[in-house]
Amino acid sequence: MKYYFNKNNDKSMEAKNITAYGTEAADAPLKQMNIQRREVTAKDIEIEILFCGVCHSDLHTARNDWGGTIYPAVPGHEIVGKVTKVGSGVTKLKVGDFAGVGCLVDSCRECESCRHDLEQYCLNGFTGTYNGKDTHLGMQTFGGYSEKVVVDEHFVLKVPSNLDLAAVAPLLCAGITTWSPLRHWKVGKGTKVAVVGLGGLGHMAIKLAKGLGAEVTLFSRTPDKKQDALDLGANEVIISTDNAQMKSVNGKFDLIIDTVPSVHNVNPYISTLNISGTLVLVGYLGGLEPILNTVPMILGRKSVAGSVIGGIAETQELLDFCGKHNIVSEIEKIDMQDINEAYERMLKSDVRYRFVIDMASLKK
Ligand code: NAP
Ligand code: ZN
Repeated sequence: MKYYFNKNNDKSMEAKNITAYGTEAADAPLKQMNIQRREVTAKDIEIEILFCGVCHSDLHTARNDWGGTIYPAVPGHEIVGKVTKVGSGVTKLKVGDFAGVGCLVDSCRECESCRHDLEQYCLNGFTGTYNGKDTHLGMQTFGGYSEKVVVDEHFVLKVPSNLDLAAVAPLLCAGITTWSPLRHWKVGKGTKVAVVGLGGLGHMAIKLAKGLGAEVTLFSRTPDKKQDALDLGANEVIISTDNAQMKSVNGKFDLIIDTVPSVHNVNPYISTLNISGTLVLVGYLGGLEPILNTVPMILGRKSVAGSVIGGIAETQELLDFCGKHNIVSEIEKIDMQDINEAYERMLKSDVRYRFVIDMASLKK
């Protein structure tokens, strides 16, 4: 088995080897491998990973869909676990506490964005939990498909004690990615929200918008997800391939959260926005096809926006909200060894509604 070491072979930073699951190439399956984690420094928390959610971004990264993947790549940014070690300066958590880590493990903490709790928009670039650059070890970061993770306490979240831990994991990405636009566009009682796509992000968007008091509609291509959507809290489901159903919601929504992971026609959804409504893209990264038609946007003061994950304070706000309102993800637990099959099912939209890896299986 290969070991992936600190590329500078820098002995000044202590590191230890741990077991992980990752891939060495875009067209290779994920498999067991060894990686290095840094030893805890004064502000670090070491977490034994108990559960890790499987985000569609993990698949995009493993397969280099966005370009720029550094191999070997170890995905996973919906992490919950137990604190096993803390540095001398840590005050947030203690050994034995449960903890969460999402998509961010570092940022400059000095720029305008960081000073406003918007680490996800760090002007110097945030450090992703995987495929980022570990400023301590001088190599890339590795994600949560692994035994342990070591993270600066600022980027570690407190997990509500009343919720099922495995079902909390997806809140760290699917949850915060939909929570952040709901909060930014001030969704509350009476707001009409629509969600495009019922997958990991989409099902959390329904639950959270509902939790905030909104009236929620799902746009889906998959008729047999209708009952699930209603059970999750949607008030109505529109099958997006049915023109008559699409027409029936013309001009209705204040906010649409579009979670579709690949290029798709956004124009039919713009028609369903109310005057001054906003469609926020959180799923697909890249140029739109067909191109956006500005006519309904100009004549209706409508916006098309984008949003990426959320800051640390906002993620804690979400976790606290979910603890208070008993909101978790709908999950299917899998073993680490099932990950390649899980990716294939995710590509077929066959996830109800988030895979979560039971990390104990890594020891099998
Ligand atoms: P997912 O679980 O696979 O769900 C995506 C859903 O979109 C599917 O269940 C399906 O729902 C719908 N869909 C899939 N392909 C489609 C197509 N070609 N046309 C129309 N609808 C389609 O994925 P996820 O984990 O929710 O992630 C969704 C996207 O968000 C990914 O691209 C991911 O990388 C991205 N993401 C972004 C952020 C961010 O910060 N902005 C954070 C996390 C993830 P129906 O069956 O209901 O149609
Ligand atoms: Zn994610």
